[in-house]
Amino acid sequence: MGKIAKLITELEKIKDMPSAADKDPSLRYVRCISVNKAYPRIPGKCRRCGKELTGRRTAWCSNACTVDALIRCNHTKATYYIRVRDKGICSICGTDTKSTKTPGRRRSWEVDHKVPVAEGGGHCSLDNLRTACIPCHKIVTKELAFRRRKK
Ligand SMILES: [Zn+2]
Ligand SMILES: [Zn+2]
Repeated sequence: MGKIAKLITELEKIKDMPSAADKDPSLRYVRCISVNKAYPRIPGKCRRCGKELTGRRTAWCSNACTVDALIRCNHTKATYYIRVRDKGICSICGTDTKSTKTPGRRRSWEVDHKVPVAEGGGHCSLDNLRTACIPCHKIVTKELAFRRRKK
């Protein structure tokens, strides 16, 4: 297993650990926030899980805690891990987007929030994120707009 794949397994184990959004539910409606703001330094303890730090660690107890916090706070970071996990396969229709890449576009997929940020799916673990090909992403975005209009 590659290093990143292994880390994704570690992230899976801590995905249900309370996050900054449990303290401040408004974070669930925000796409990106500074990690320093969401997880400020706690002297001697892990910024993410609060565990006592050992050895030369000064802010985070593990790689998993660092990356979990970064993914929740930063969409670009999340995109990187979703690329490794899903390998460009659309989670909705199963298309391999490597074969549908259009010239001039960096990639033909987007990261989609299963529960949209507008509906409280922000500050999420990888669990709420999936690869969507451009056509599928357009459809789910339209559906969301429709739901929002009806309210
Ligand atoms: Zn930790
Ligand atoms: Zn699709």
